[in-house]
Amino acid sequence: MSEKTLRICDKGHRYYKSSDCPTCPTCEEEKKPTTGFLSEVSAPARRALIAEGIDTLEVLSRYSEKQILRLHGIGKASLPVLRKALAEEGHGFQDANKRGLNGNN
Ligand SMILES: [Zn+2]
Repeated sequence: MSEKTLRICDKGHRYYKSSDCPTCPTCEEEKKPTTGFLSEVSAPARRALIAEGIDTLEVLSRYSEKQILRLHGIGKASLPVLRKALAEEGHGFQDANKRGLNGNN
């Protein structure tokens, strides 16, 4: 059973969480970048990317989609967002680069 419990973060925000993840969603929202691909993915995905040191599209393009999916917090929904962000800057995932951009996805 995962009972949601009330947490209060360092800044006094109150929130309910059922996991052990101590991250406060309000703080997370305040830290949220307003531009770039990190602003377009979900908070867990953003944390995963930042934790991996992926904070620019250039760094992101050194990874394959498989590698990105393996990161804790990255869901399948994040991939199209990242792929689009890369494509807009003329980048692509490692495997996408090799395969070419005319795949079915
Ligand atoms: Zn907070």
